[in-house]
Amino acid sequence: MRAGFPMTYKVLVSDKLSEDGLEVFRKAGFQTDHLPEITQEEILATIGEYDAWVVRSRSRATADILANATKLRVIGRAGVGVDNVDTPAASKRGIIVMNTPGGNTISTAEHAIAMMMAIARKIPQADASMKAGKWDKKSFMGVELRGKTLGILGLGRIGQEVARRMRGFGMHLLGYDPFVSDDTLSQLAAEAATVDDICRRADFITIHTPLSPETKNLINAERLATMKKTTRIVNCARGGIVDEAALAAALEKGVIAGAALDVFENEPLADDSPLRTAPNIVITPHIAASTVEAQENVAIQVAEQIVEYLKDNNIVNALNAPSIDPKVLETLKPYLTLCEKLGSFAAQYAGKSRVKSITTRFSGSVLEYELSPLTTAFAKGFVETTTDHPVNYVNARHILKERGIEVLETKRSGQFRFSNLMTIAVACEDGSENTFSGTVFEPDHGRIVIVNDKTFVALPEGNLVVIENNDVPGIIGRVGTYLGDKKMNIAEMTWGRRDADSHAMTIINVDGDVDEATLEGLRTLPDILGARLIRL
Ligand code: NAD
Repeated sequence: MRAGFPMTYKVLVSDKLSEDGLEVFRKAGFQTDHLPEITQEEILATIGEYDAWVVRSRSRATADILANATKLRVIGRAGVGVDNVDTPAASKRGIIVMNTPGGNTISTAEHAIAMMMAIARKIPQADASMKAGKWDKKSFMGVELRGKTLGILGLGRIGQEVARRMRGFGMHLLGYDPFVSDDTLSQLAAEAATVDDICRRADFITIHTPLSPETKNLINAERLATMKKTTRIVNCARGGIVDEAALAAALEKGVIAGAALDVFENEPLADDSPLRTAPNIVITPHIAASTVEAQENVAIQVAEQIVEYLKDNNIVNALNAPSIDPKVLETLKPYLTLCEKLGSFAAQYAGKSRVKSITTRFSGSVLEYELSPLTTAFAKGFVETTTDHPVNYVNARHILKERGIEVLETKRSGQFRFSNLMTIAVACEDGSENTFSGTVFEPDHGRIVIVNDKTFVALPEGNLVVIENNDVPGIIGRVGTYLGDKKMNIAEMTWGRRDADSHAMTIINVDGDVDEATLEGLRTLPDILGARLIRL
C-alpha cells in the first residue's frame, strides 16, 4: 500500500456476490461487509462509512443515498446493466461507476453452440422420448456441423467467440456486421456476407446483435421464405430480432428445419405462445449467461477493478468520465451534443458496406477547444446505436478499436462558410465514404448542415425522415401530402442539393414514429430514390 493511503478500505457489498470476489477484497486487506439482504434505508444510513460499493441488480444507488456517501469513491456493478445506479449523480460527486462487460461472453457463446448442437441432433426431443419409456431411433436422425455453412449476424464480443469456436468444428463462416472491419473478419476467417446472402446460403444461423430498430424482426417471414428447408436458426441475443409468429409458422410448415431460442419478445414467454408447441424447436428461459463461471467472473472482475482503482488509481471499465472542468464542459456542451447526434446519424445512415474507419474534422472557432472530447462524442453517438452495452465517453473509442475501426482526428484552418464546423467521415470497406457535418449557431443551436455534398439546416432531434429524390418540381408537395394522409405531422423540413445536380436530399422532422410501411410507400412515389428513418 502506498504511503499516505489509509491502512484499510471499507467495501459494502449490498447484493449477493460470489465468494471468489469477496476473497479478492480480503486478500487486498479490505474490510468487506457482504450484506445481501440490506434494505435501501439501511444503506442510506450507513453508506457514509464506505470507500467502495458493489451492487448487482437488486440494490439501487440513488441520488439521495449518494448524497450521504461522503467517503465513497467507486461503485462497481458485478454485471453489465447499470439502470439501478444514478450515474449522473455519482459523476457529480466524483464517484467512479464501473461495470464488468464481457464477464458472460463465453457463457453466452457456449450456450448458443449448445443450442446449435441440440437442434442438429434433436437431443431434447430424444431425451423426452426416452423419459416417456420409448426406444425410438428412427425419429431422431441428425445432421453434422462439419462442412456446413454458419451465418453469424453480429460479430461483437459474443459473435466473435462463437466464430472462433465453430471454425474448430470445421464450419464455413459467413459474417454480417456493418460495424466491424475487414481485418476483424479475416482474423476470424469469416467471409463477409449480407443478411440476405446468409439467409439464402447458411445451414445454421446464429444471432448476436443488439435489439434496435434496424434489427427488430430482422428474421421475418420474407427472409424465412428464402432459407433452405434444412436451415436451423439460433437466437441467444435478444427477443424481437426473430419474428416469433413468423418463425412458429415456418416451423409448422417445414419452411426451415429447426430453431433454438433463449430470448423472447415478452419474457417470461406466454403459456400459450405458439413457440411452446412448434415442431423442431428448443427453447430455454433466458439462461445463456447463467453459469457458475459467469457469476464468478463478474465477482472477481469487479473486485479486482475496485482494488486496482483504490490502491493504484487505475481506472478500468468506468462508465462515467473522469470529470472535465465544469466551465469547459459548459462551453463544450452544445458541441458535444451535436457531435453525438451526428455520430448517431452517421451510424444509422451506414450503407451496405462495412465500416473501416471514422475521421473527424474540425474547422473554425471550435479549434480553440480541446478536440479530443468532441471526437469521443462522435464515437459515442456512433457506437451507441450499434450495441446495447452502456456506452460513454470512457469506453466509446475503445469499443470501436475492439471492432477494428480506426478513429482519426483532423483539423482544418482557413476561411469557411460556417464559423465552426464539425464533421464525421465514415469510410467503408468498399471504398465509399459518407460525411456528415454540423455547426453550432450562437448561442447553442446545433444543426446538421452538410450530408455528403448537400447542404441544409436540419434540426438534429427526434425522428428524421431522410429522402433522396430527383431534383424536379412538385416533390415537396407530394411528400407533404403523402405524410399528411398518413396523419404524420411535419415539424420541420429542409432540402439540399448540389449545384447543377439532378439529385437532392430532403430531411423532414416528424412528430411520432414512422413505420416501415410508411417508408415503403414513400419509396414508391414518383422521383423518390430512397427514404430512411433516422432516430436521434
Ligand atoms: P456487442 O455490442 O459486443 O456486439 C454486438 C454486435 O452487433 C456489434 O459488433 C455491432 O456492430 C453489431 N451490430 C449492431 N447493429 C447491427 C446490425 N444492424 N446488423 C448486424 N450487426 C449489428 O454485444 P455482445 O456482448 O456480443 O452481445 C450480443 C447480444 O447478446 C446482445 O443483444 C446482448 O444483449 C445479448 N446477450 C444475451 C445474453 C443472454 O442471456 N441470452 C447474455 C449476454 C448478451
